[in-house]
Amino acid sequence: MEKLYYRKRYLDSLETTVKEIVTSIGQVGLRLEEDIVFPGGGGQAADIASIAGNSNKIFDILSVREDEINGNLHYVDASSSAFNVGDRVSVNIDWKHREDNMHQHSGQHVLSGCFYKLFGRNTTGLHIGKTVSQLDIEGLFDDEMVAKIELYANEIIQQSIEVENYVSEDDNIVTRRKLPDTDNGIRILKIGDLDINACCGIHVYNTRDLRLIKIVRYYKNKNGTRFEYLVGKRAVDFVLKRESIFEKILKLYSCNEDTIINALMNEGLKKDELVLEKKYLENKLLPTISNELIGSGENIFDEVTLITKVFSSDKKWFIEDLAKYITENNRAIVLIANEKENNTEILLQCSKSISDEYPMINMGQLWKESSHLVRVKGGGSKFLAQGICEKTEDILVFFANIKSSIKNEK
Ligand SMILES: [Zn+2]
Repeated sequence: MEKLYYRKRYLDSLETTVKEIVTSIGQVGLRLEEDIVFPGGGGQAADIASIAGNSNKIFDILSVREDEINGNLHYVDASSSAFNVGDRVSVNIDWKHREDNMHQHSGQHVLSGCFYKLFGRNTTGLHIGKTVSQLDIEGLFDDEMVAKIELYANEIIQQSIEVENYVSEDDNIVTRRKLPDTDNGIRILKIGDLDINACCGIHVYNTRDLRLIKIVRYYKNKNGTRFEYLVGKRAVDFVLKRESIFEKILKLYSCNEDTIINALMNEGLKKDELVLEKKYLENKLLPTISNELIGSGENIFDEVTLITKVFSSDKKWFIEDLAKYITENNRAIVLIANEKENNTEILLQCSKSISDEYPMINMGQLWKESSHLVRVKGGGSKFLAQGICEKTEDILVFFANIKSSIKNEK
């Protein structure tokens, strides 16, 4: 039986003859005259394939048992009468799956060759994933080194280098990695002078067939670096998707590719300014305003200050921080309103020590009790109640009622 998948690497269907049939529990194993179904190896997944006999019924090939001497057995879920020795059968493989796996696998050889040639680094691991593949390389890398690798790998594609795959009986052949110890001939993969290695996977005929290699991510892994990469359609799809996102960003900022970086840096500076402003407000203004309000507040009982204040600020967070600061640093109850264009925000907050001492002074409860008087929405807990008021003139009524309740409930 010839392993045609090594000689005719792009053959996705084949008419051949059943040479032998082996029956197993509920399955039959078919040995064929010629074989295009790659059983997996060298880190590359097995083919997804089907077989159809005289009845034209299509059977999925469920597994392949490798047999170097007699030829591989292809197991299908069929009765022993479905196939006979000598039958002509047609075998089909899922080409998209095979091509994608060949691309990721051959792309790995190109990348490994580039890492070795540019930086003398060896490959220590490979995982060909369903969406992205991982390649482990000795040592650490930086962005500049990775950009060089990616550029070089894509130059190799442009150079259209033949990818040779043959069995060598030459024991003295010099390969990138140590050869396995075997008496059989060794299957060699050779990409010009970039890579020569022992490998039983299936590769493309020429590096140009890979179209594009993209490194999408890299990070430190144990003592080396793990690279996530895409090849062929996966790489092209990734780049097109990125491109369409980039176009949207350009439109959003009304920029072109020459001006977008500056625009984003300016955006960053503005954000930094806002952070500085927030820090200034928190560190300088909070204590000052807090002291002023405590000074002008009403001492209602046992050194408890009641503050009633209406603000008009676009910084809701500052009002909230202020109420928190006052109640944490004083024995105080604050009734604060912040007038906005449509609704006015209301905040009632009291120091925990007051609420612990006088359980009847409960912000959520006070809100509830006064809310029937005016149009307010909201509520809260023992120490903090928040909400909105539709009519600004209602606020003073609301606050006055809460104020008299506090005095009574004490
Ligand atoms: Zn290979």
